[in-house]
Amino acid sequence: MLVNAVDEFRAKVLRNLMQDFIYGLLAVSTLLDHTLMEQMFWYIIPFKHNAYMVIHKAFRYRLYPTAKQQQALAVQFGHARFIWNWALTLRKAAYKDTGKGIGYYELKRRATALKYQAGTEWLQEADSQVLQAKIEDLERAYKNFFEKRAKFPRFKSKRDGQAIRYPQRFKFDENFTYLPKVGWIKTKFHRPLEGRPKNVTVSKTKTGKYFVSIQCEVEMVEPPARGGEIGIDLGVKSFLATSEGWKRDNPRHLQQAEKKLKRLHRQLSRRVKGSAGREKARIVLARQHEKVANRRRDFLQKLSTELVGRYGLIGMEDLNVRGMLKNRRLAKTIATTGWGAFRRMLEYKGAWYGSYVHKVDRFFPSSKTCNRCGHVLDELPLSVREWQCPICGTIHDRDINSAINILNETRAGVARSHAGGESVRWRQGATILTEAGSLPAFSGR
Ligand SMILES: [Zn+2]
Repeated sequence: MLVNAVDEFRAKVLRNLMQDFIYGLLAVSTLLDHTLMEQMFWYIIPFKHNAYMVIHKAFRYRLYPTAKQQQALAVQFGHARFIWNWALTLRKAAYKDTGKGIGYYELKRRATALKYQAGTEWLQEADSQVLQAKIEDLERAYKNFFEKRAKFPRFKSKRDGQAIRYPQRFKFDENFTYLPKVGWIKTKFHRPLEGRPKNVTVSKTKTGKYFVSIQCEVEMVEPPARGGEIGIDLGVKSFLATSEGWKRDNPRHLQQAEKKLKRLHRQLSRRVKGSAGREKARIVLARQHEKVANRRRDFLQKLSTELVGRYGLIGMEDLNVRGMLKNRRLAKTIATTGWGAFRRMLEYKGAWYGSYVHKVDRFFPSSKTCNRCGHVLDELPLSVREWQCPICGTIHDRDINSAINILNETRAGVARSHAGGESVRWRQGATILTEAGSLPAFSGR
């Protein structure tokens, strides 16, 4: 009996508590109107967004098309090349006549019309999106030119490497890639594909190899910022010199491959034009170009990964690579050392791994300034590798001194942007360059 009374009491208390809870909930929900709830919702969401970020990553795989598929691809390449050259001609002519280019939408409209005109109906064999993507590529090429990132777009020939982009309707399975109007092509997925594929670029190198580069959106956890600061000076003699006093040369096997490349260039120029020997030499040369490009890319990938893994702040010069290429004597060396590609790698990997790449103004006299007393020399010829400061007497290695100045200037630059009230973005999450920016050495884009 007593036991029952206790149970009853417990049940009553519990019932009361539950009622209070439900009334409480009702009271709260009437207090909070809809907009307030919504605001709370949006207040919670950003936390999720802070923890994750979406980056673009490119995955490149070798394709093995059958003879029939190679023919189908040749049609797509050829027609896309035709559209590129046709659009470039139109834009050039329009500029000559009116001083203005032709808009992107106008070009797209005319390209569609072209498919139903006598003489060019064969364009219907091409995937229409591939042709449109080509016009987009041309638009981008112009934009890059106007923003001084690239040379003026040029006409493409059958001899160049070929590339086409599919924005949609591609598919993958374990060992195959599906492309519209071509079919399922055998693919070697040597590493797993991550994220959501956004578009694919199919390319054929000068040596006849096929590749697919898949641009993916990958969600990743935002990395914590790293400590460690370093200034780097990119050079001709050593590839890189650092504010810590160490240098890194181009690896020996790359130097050897470059040497051989020079030899093959000379050999080709000696051959008679149109001869079988010349054709053979051309292929051998193209293969060597590919080898050099692969070795260089490999070296730069490893070095950039090493740097972003060790340092949270990396200072470097904002190189005007195009301006340097105008300097004839240095042109070849600089063109082959891949500074631009290296900087892009540092920037996008920095964004992945949480290190910030700061670019120092290209007019900052990093080489001519004494890092100890701040004295600036009037002149320092490129041939001088070591010099003594006339004021404080310190003996400087040219490149190491430059790297130290770059680090000091980087620290000052970061401090300045703090003082200016803008928050420094230690992680450049918004625009991330990917490997797609430096596609195969012979991509036709
Ligand atoms: Zn000095």
